[in-house]
Amino acid sequence: MNTWSAIAAASGLMSLALSGLYWRERRRRLQLFAQLEDLSKQLASKMASDALPGLLTRALFDAAIAKKANKVDRGAGPFGVLYVTLDNFVLLNDAFGNETGDRLLKEVSRRLAMCDGDKTPTCHIAVGEFALLVDGDQHSAHASAQRVSDALAVPFTFEAIRAQLTCSIGIAVYPDHGAVSKIVGNAALAMRSVKLNGGSDFCLYDPKMGAEIREQALLFNDLRSALDKGEFELYFQPKIDAVSLQVTGAEALLRWHHPERGLVSPVVFIPLAEQYGLIGPIGHWVIEEACRKAARWRERGLRMRVAVNISGYQMREDDLVNRIEAALQRNGIQPERFTCEITESVAMEDTKVTQLTFEKMRNAGFHVSIDDFGTGYSSLAALRKLPARELKIDRAFVSDLEESEDARSIAQSIVNMATALNLRVVAEGVETPGQRDLLVGMGCNELQGFLFSMPMPAYELERLALHEREPDEMDFRKSLFSETYLGKLH
Ligand code: C2E
Ligand code: MG
Ligand code: MG
Repeated sequence: MNTWSAIAAASGLMSLALSGLYWRERRRRLQLFAQLEDLSKQLASKMASDALPGLLTRALFDAAIAKKANKVDRGAGPFGVLYVTLDNFVLLNDAFGNETGDRLLKEVSRRLAMCDGDKTPTCHIAVGEFALLVDGDQHSAHASAQRVSDALAVPFTFEAIRAQLTCSIGIAVYPDHGAVSKIVGNAALAMRSVKLNGGSDFCLYDPKMGAEIREQALLFNDLRSALDKGEFELYFQPKIDAVSLQVTGAEALLRWHHPERGLVSPVVFIPLAEQYGLIGPIGHWVIEEACRKAARWRERGLRMRVAVNISGYQMREDDLVNRIEAALQRNGIQPERFTCEITESVAMEDTKVTQLTFEKMRNAGFHVSIDDFGTGYSSLAALRKLPARELKIDRAFVSDLEESEDARSIAQSIVNMATALNLRVVAEGVETPGQRDLLVGMGCNELQGFLFSMPMPAYELERLALHEREPDEMDFRKSLFSETYLGKLH
């Protein structure tokens, strides 16, 4: 073999070897690609499921929004983001336990993903908070929000447990309500605004909301130190016996003396305190202070029952009744002279914890009053289960009494219902002699309202009762206190 043919043979062998190597490498790479593709599919499906079935992760949800916005920018129709939060999820989770809470979230996810078409892109943003991407303008986003709230309003039933959820929904529509990067945040702002106004509703984003939420954050910041700085005061409003027109008791109504804003109404700060966990210590202070004032009145010879408003949060505190008992004991007040006012909506919460607190209240002998009664459509059967001694007709019915036949028949049926259950009826918000006469005619036992007295600081009530102060423009009747003031200790 000459040199040339030896080189040719060697190069042939080499190219054969190289081609073998090439094909082996190619096969290996193809295998690697296939493995990689498999892994990325597994990862995508894992990310897409995010523990709750059928839901997207935040990253995939944001990607879906970006894709949609891109289409809108190129001429397609608008889309909306619904930010849904379950108002009472934490409460139900506490009441029924985590396992039921998880089942509840799974069922909520299923309903959400189904309620606006077969595959609405839905994301679980935080515990009990979801975002949905829906097609259409503001009008159709509104209709979608209605469908979501209807779907969640259907009670959830797991074996013996029946839970009713309410939700607050904020809506932001692209491109009207902000850039792609802001659209979920703006829907969340709208949801916060719904919550601040009592929740269980939905509304569209408005640029003013940012300022409103910032304002709430500032107020909340001041509220945190209000107790330590001694900025709270209890005002008292008398409850009047409908027949004798004598004072039977006084309701404690909390006031906040804000250093810059002046007197802040509880309608503003109580929901804030409830929402952000400050109502516990504030509520304890109210109980202690009301007992201190009642003790002072007693020392000065005034015999009045004292009533305190108890929030839903307090009803779920397991030491509430013990705390009240301790405060009563410290101040020498009998339990039956202390009234707990609990709103109808809280009283009807069918949770174990709330019912247990009612049971303890019954055993402790407190006077229980169902406040703002009439708006919750409670049944006679549900009322019978509570240890209530009194119902307070909601102010809304009282203010309409003279004009509305409906308000009159509702007030009358509340009085009839209460009489059947042997409960006393108090009408709140009585402002005119006409309303007073109608209520007395219906058989109401006690009246409360500006007609008799505005809420006032404890010492003013005391001075009026002891006739140390003349009645002023409030047309306060001198005779109101004549029997309440006994002139000696009891
Ligand atoms: P509420 O317990 O139903 O108290 C009655 C409210 O009606 C009081 O408002 C009272 O000032 C007002 N009112 C009384 N008579 C009249 C009237 O003739 N006309 C009108 N228009 N209003 C009248 P306020 O003091 O602003 O309290 C509002 C709500 O804040 C209370 O409603 C209660 O739910 C809550 N609240 C007040 N203090 C406390 C508290 O210490 N703890 C808790 N958890 N809630 C409280
Ligand atoms: Mg009340
Ligand atoms: Mg009320």
